[in-house]
Amino acid sequence: MTIVAAPGLEHRLKREISGDVWFDRFTRGRYATDASHYQMMPIGVVAPRSVAEAERVIALARTEGVTVLPRGGGTSQSGQTVNHSLVIDCSKYLNRILDLDVAGQRCVVQPGIVLDDLNRQLKPHGLWFPVDISTASRATIGGMAGNNSCGARSLRYGVTRDNVLSIDAVLADGSAAHFGAVSAGLRELPAGSPLRAVAEDVLAIGMRESDEIAVRFPKVQRRVGGYNLDALAANAPVHNLAHILVGSEGTLGFSTKIELKLWPLLGRRAVGACHFGRFYDAMDAAQHIVKLKPIAVELVDRTMIELARNIDMFRPTIDAFVRGAPDAVLLVEFAQDEWKENLERIRELEALMGDLGYAWDKAGARQGGVVEVLDPKLQAAITEVRTAGLNIMMSMKEEGKPVSFVEDCAVPLEHLAEYTERLSRVFEKNGTRGTWYAHASVGCLHVRPVLNLRLDRDKQAMRSIAEEAFAFVREYKGSHSGEHGDGLVRSEFHEAMFGARLTRAFEEVKDRFDPGHLFNPGKIVCAPKFDDRANFRYGPGYRGKPMTAALDWSAYPGVGGGFQGAVEMCNNNGACRALAGGVMCPSFRVTRDEKDVTRGRANTLRLAVTGQLGPDAFASNEMAETMKLCVSCKACRRECPTGVDMARMKIEVLAARAATHGLSLYDRLVGYLPHYAPVAARLPWLFNLRDSLPGAAALSERIAGFSARRSLPRWRSDWFRDPVSSLPRLPARSGEGASSSSPVEAAGSPASGGGGGRAVALFADTFNRYFEPENIRAAMKVLRAGGYDVQIATPADGARRPLCCGRTLLAVGRVDEARREAERTIAAIEPLVASGLPVLGLEPSCIFSFRDEVPAIMRDERAARIADHALLFEEFLAREANAGRLALPLGPLAGRVLLHGHCHQKAFGAMGAVEAALRLIPDIEVEAIESSCCGMAGSFGYHAETIDTSFAMGELSLLPAVRKAPRDAILVADGTSCRHQIKDGAGREAMHVARVLAQSLTVM
Ligand SMILES: Cc1cc2nc3c(=O)[nH]c(=O)nc-3n(C[C@H](O)[C@H](O)[C@H](O)COP(=O)(O)OP(=O)(O)OC[C@H]3O[C@@H](n4cnc5c(N)ncnc54)[C@H](O)[C@@H]3O)c2cc1C
Ligand code: SF4
Ligand code: SF4
Repeated sequence: MTIVAAPGLEHRLKREISGDVWFDRFTRGRYATDASHYQMMPIGVVAPRSVAEAERVIALARTEGVTVLPRGGGTSQSGQTVNHSLVIDCSKYLNRILDLDVAGQRCVVQPGIVLDDLNRQLKPHGLWFPVDISTASRATIGGMAGNNSCGARSLRYGVTRDNVLSIDAVLADGSAAHFGAVSAGLRELPAGSPLRAVAEDVLAIGMRESDEIAVRFPKVQRRVGGYNLDALAANAPVHNLAHILVGSEGTLGFSTKIELKLWPLLGRRAVGACHFGRFYDAMDAAQHIVKLKPIAVELVDRTMIELARNIDMFRPTIDAFVRGAPDAVLLVEFAQDEWKENLERIRELEALMGDLGYAWDKAGARQGGVVEVLDPKLQAAITEVRTAGLNIMMSMKEEGKPVSFVEDCAVPLEHLAEYTERLSRVFEKNGTRGTWYAHASVGCLHVRPVLNLRLDRDKQAMRSIAEEAFAFVREYKGSHSGEHGDGLVRSEFHEAMFGARLTRAFEEVKDRFDPGHLFNPGKIVCAPKFDDRANFRYGPGYRGKPMTAALDWSAYPGVGGGFQGAVEMCNNNGACRALAGGVMCPSFRVTRDEKDVTRGRANTLRLAVTGQLGPDAFASNEMAETMKLCVSCKACRRECPTGVDMARMKIEVLAARAATHGLSLYDRLVGYLPHYAPVAARLPWLFNLRDSLPGAAALSERIAGFSARRSLPRWRSDWFRDPVSSLPRLPARSGEGASSSSPVEAAGSPASGGGGGRAVALFADTFNRYFEPENIRAAMKVLRAGGYDVQIATPADGARRPLCCGRTLLAVGRVDEARREAERTIAAIEPLVASGLPVLGLEPSCIFSFRDEVPAIMRDERAARIADHALLFEEFLAREANAGRLALPLGPLAGRVLLHGHCHQKAFGAMGAVEAALRLIPDIEVEAIESSCCGMAGSFGYHAETIDTSFAMGELSLLPAVRKAPRDAILVADGTSCRHQIKDGAGREAMHVARVLAQSLTVM
């Protein structure tokens, strides 16, 4: 790892620009990787607030002799977005639409705007930018132009280059220039203008090399290697100077404005999923299928189908469109103007498959046919599986991982079958394998052989595979760089692919634009060897430092009992940087800071556990800052395609920190809440003074850090007391009827309804018990009305302090004490579970602790058994209803239900259950609010340091939606903190689903 100090530059940048300037080791480490297998430590990172500031940054870097690397989302796969340079991050502030001409179907944008974000803003105008790449949720237009990115529908829309009209850029000498279409005499560029001389020279290079370009440039649509000299050749249809910048990977200039061609939105589409019994035949069929003029033909192979089938989120989709066990499926998409034409194309596709010899009733290679997919929702779900393709493969936990270096070669369709077969044999010869997927329509299939780049043997295999693969591609007159760009992976091979003459021409272009190699040196021209381990993420000397982890990571390799392997699961693809949809990563959506995204945190942890951030990095203040805005929503656990579980990893950091630094007063008050709650509940008037006595809230902020702008939960005199004699009881034997034994809360005893006394255990969590006991009472009422014998889980040790899952202690890193707390609860619940009772709870974060963290800290069978039996109240009702065992006497309610899901409900796929439970109410209308985290996230929203972020997170979607809701709408939120946030942020009361069901009971 090269560490270059540039104190003069840092000082001047901080003085002269208002944007962010970071030169610390932690931040630089977060910008040292992209989605490739490389790592190069940058000198510093800057996020300029304006183009003028970006220009200033470039000028200062040039003066200080430091090179510059422009960066968008950092999702490149070929190592073009890593360098020992000053990184300029465009994504944080330079992300606006500057001009939109709806009638003319064009817009001008800043480079840092994310594709999905742009398309969300264009949608109301019936337009979109159709280069629909898989990383659309986080890739920026600057990065797409930098890489000349290609979407799945390039058959119809072309690639980025075909849709860029002009680019404004800052050049190496500091001049700003407008690159657009020019006429033969360069009339558009006045003599003496900064671009005129450069344009004359590069056009002359293009003209001079026209013959060589005609011979050596690949004849396939998917080619993004080298500079686009063909755009300047004599036979180019127009000379657009912007096209020399497109695909130049930040090596020629810094784009500040990009003018795009827009297209009308796609209408309804028809998809035919062509099933093939043999992979080779699917590849061979692609050349025939494209004659039917689809807009896309995408491949998913057997391995991908099987991997996706094993992922909860994707299983239903696979089951819906895959028939039997095909070796490959080609998804053929039609989008004709008339719907009936689409159906006609599907019929033609069926006929074609028949002509090729496929039928469902045949066996072996010829078994196959077309599954029609006309439902737009299923089409969208299939797209989601398809675009997650790479990530699905990357979810393998071992040290060997699919590596990107021959993954986007493109060959003419007539050679596709032979090419894939030959390359698969090369993989075998090198002791590895690969999974094929993606763009069969244009002969650009993705494949990543599995290699462990820590091993010299696998590094050598990488070179021999690359050399053989590129030789095949050359033979077929294809392109060795068909989609993901050159970067460090492909540039070395330009001479072999384009020939020495064109390689020299590329160098001339670079020298003419950037003689001092200021911009992203070593990419496209003058590149290092692609297998130089000094540039690898797992470079020489890369190894974990011994550490003891608090949780169970045994599913992974590496130090810390596997913790290292768990953090290395992040492949930097950036799915966590999405700005909308799903939940991950809610704080990033507010700050847009790489530090606040799962990827940034995982990279920081990886560098720390391998000693690259200095000694004691794990428990350092910088690490604490890195984790500070992680709200432990667990969204990454579900939505990160490789399953990076940052909420769990954060517990490790908190534990290390608590061990070395102790706990703050704030942390003590949060962590030990279940311990002092019984005392506070007996003196509610005293403990509630903080929110009624003038000055008390401000004092609590000064002394303990609780924001004075946030009310605290109110202690209640009618808190829920455990039934006195309700020590764990075994379920009532048939005909015995459970007796009510408590003078305080009535326990057991089904009230009415046809349950026949089936028993359930109810876990009364700390929050509902002390602050909203009506929720527990409502749940009991509903369960009894359904005929269930409700047993409250109470301590087995006879102590008066109620049970607790240990969540608050985990939240402050007291893992040993959380373990003791969980142990106590397990001892109480175990006999009930052993006799087959489900354990129900109301607070999602508590119940999901039993399923998630408790087994990880306990590591024993009892914890695993409880994890299997712990259910949310609504999950239990939905399950019972589904099995036909539930008969609740419910009547209609006035008002529509608006539902906000707790992050953990979403992370564990439990939203369907709460909707199903609500739909037990006759005629009810339920609408789920499209929201990420509410922003409260346990104690996060109470702290003076994080309250602003907390409210800003709420304002992203939840709070505006609640404010807009009609007054008679029933707001449902099962999380205690979500209800609190809705009350504080929108002044509305939300209810637990148990209360809504209790209100609709027709028997009291
Ligand atoms: C899982 C996965 C799937 C992918 N799928 C596709 C796909 O379907 N199609 C496809 O084409 N690619 C795909 N990619 C590659 C990548 O996502 C795209 O190339 C994307 O467009 C990069 O955008 P970015 O904002 O992340 O760019 P970055 O990686 O940040 O930058 C890309 C290049 O552009 C340069 N650059 C950025 N901003 C500027 C600027 N202002 N001025 C000058 N140069 C600049 C950078 O220096 C760099 O060389 C995929 C990657 C992954 C990880
Ligand atoms: S944390 Fe997950 S989603 Fe984010 S970049 Fe890493 S692998 Fe991708
Ligand atoms: S737990 Fe939530 S906030 Fe934390 S990294 Fe994962 S998605 Fe982001």
